[in-house]
Amino acid sequence: MFEKFDILVIGAGPGGHAAAVWAARHGTRVAIIERQGWGGTCTHRGCIPTKALLACSRRYAQMKNLGRMGVSVADPSFDFAAMKRHQEQIVKISSLGVQKSLKETGVEMKSGEGRIISPGEVEWTAPDGRRERLSARNLVIAWGSEPALPPGVQPSERILTSDGLLSLRTLPESLLIVGGSVIGVEFATLFAELGVRVTLIEMMGQLLPGEEGEAAALLARELKNLRVAVHTGMRMETIRETGSGVQLLAVSDAPGAETRQAQDPPGAHPPDKGNGDPYGIRPAGTLDLSADYALICTGRRPRFSAEELNALGIRHERRGIVVDARQMTNVPGIYAVGDVTGGMMLAHRAMQQGKGLAARLCSGREIRCPEEAVPSVVYTHPQIARVGLTEEEALRKGIAEIHRADFAANITARTVLLGPGFVKLLFDREKLAGATIAGDQAGELIAPLSLAMAAGLDRRQLEEWIIPHPTLSEVLGL
Ligand SMILES: Cc1cc2nc3c(=O)[nH]c(=O)nc-3n(C[C@H](O)[C@H](O)[C@H](O)COP(=O)(O)OP(=O)(O)OC[C@H]3O[C@@H](n4cnc5c(N)ncnc54)[C@H](O)[C@@H]3O)c2cc1C
Repeated sequence: MFEKFDILVIGAGPGGHAAAVWAARHGTRVAIIERQGWGGTCTHRGCIPTKALLACSRRYAQMKNLGRMGVSVADPSFDFAAMKRHQEQIVKISSLGVQKSLKETGVEMKSGEGRIISPGEVEWTAPDGRRERLSARNLVIAWGSEPALPPGVQPSERILTSDGLLSLRTLPESLLIVGGSVIGVEFATLFAELGVRVTLIEMMGQLLPGEEGEAAALLARELKNLRVAVHTGMRMETIRETGSGVQLLAVSDAPGAETRQAQDPPGAHPPDKGNGDPYGIRPAGTLDLSADYALICTGRRPRFSAEELNALGIRHERRGIVVDARQMTNVPGIYAVGDVTGGMMLAHRAMQQGKGLAARLCSGREIRCPEEAVPSVVYTHPQIARVGLTEEEALRKGIAEIHRADFAANITARTVLLGPGFVKLLFDREKLAGATIAGDQAGELIAPLSLAMAAGLDRRQLEEWIIPHPTLSEVLGL
């Protein structure tokens, strides 16, 4: 006898969790299978542990800069082991929260592996090896994503993915980061604030490729102030473990690598070459770098078995399972949400897709996930947040209406010494088409602009927005 459900979800990350809870709230019979950790990548190896650690490093860094406000703290210090306990505690709270909401809404939770046998039929393998067949009218794939390493690179004791770095129990003295996108710059901030010598290489010409050049430049300056050695336009050629660390050779395909290094401020620490050339630059534009550990964060890929999908006839590409705007795969009754579908790999996008799918399946109600209104936040110090177009994209499309405001002109930012920052709003024939915020609390400030984008607000409507004074939010006012 098969156990029967209306909806069966595989994977309890943000996407699967949202789909299950929203479906159960509509009174449908829902089950969810999770093999690793309730809450998925976000809770255990992504958003939550990184932000818990960044909160610690931030507080520590701020303690050292309170003198300007007349506050003195004698000899600030930190205990990395206690920071790790904070990380673990917050991860536990997040995971328990996920489990509580599933239980409270009546979702049947099944620990273990789920394997789709045919549309409507799943084999569940419990942790003790027991197998059971489950059936459901609708199946939701929410398998998530995993780190994608460059060809020939394997994780090891000292060559780590973000999963491995988050598991380190002791603070390294030095760290090499390969990849200057979101994960790379967040870890660079965290470890540099704790005094680790960080060197970061990025293949493209700027950090955060895809974000506004001006925002990326501001972040690069702040990282250099933290003594991070940032090398853009450098591609990892080889990496190997030595007895006590890692050694990496990076090459520049573009001319002018030497010039760029020469512009590094005096604070940027040089990699330890010991040959009189502080950056180890050879005439051809190569860098020899060494450190205790290396973090490889060159991207993530959807987590799926092509074999399993092929056997079911589910269309997939390298970037993910192919779905339509309603999260339907090409096989009736099988849906997919979140990172496994590719595109912007963000927790809140996965949640919105899961919620929208459940609402559609259970009530016929439409809850959309408009891509242009999905905000993204880089939790560096300062943060970089965006929704919609960047200035570069806008200019390429011939949209030239740009409103700009600087944190320096906002009295709250000045009062609490927030540091540098700016807001840029882009309008396309008076309609808000994008916004980039660089600066402290950018992640909080972007939320109302994401709502404005989703609601299709125009310049006149934003002019009617009354913002309390004095607040940092006034920086958003027209
Ligand atoms: C270091 C790092 C920092 C990040 N920070 C942020 C951030 O600040 N903000 C943000 O929005 N995003 C962030 N992300 C991305 C975010 O974590 C993902 O976008 C999000 O978790 C995707 O949710 P998901 O539901 O698609 O998949 P996941 O969270 O990956 O969950 C998928 C789940 O499915 C389970 N599963 C897979 N296959 C099976 C199977 N066959 N049977 C049973 N279970 C299965 C897995 O065990 C996993 O728990 C970060 C990611 C990383 C790595």
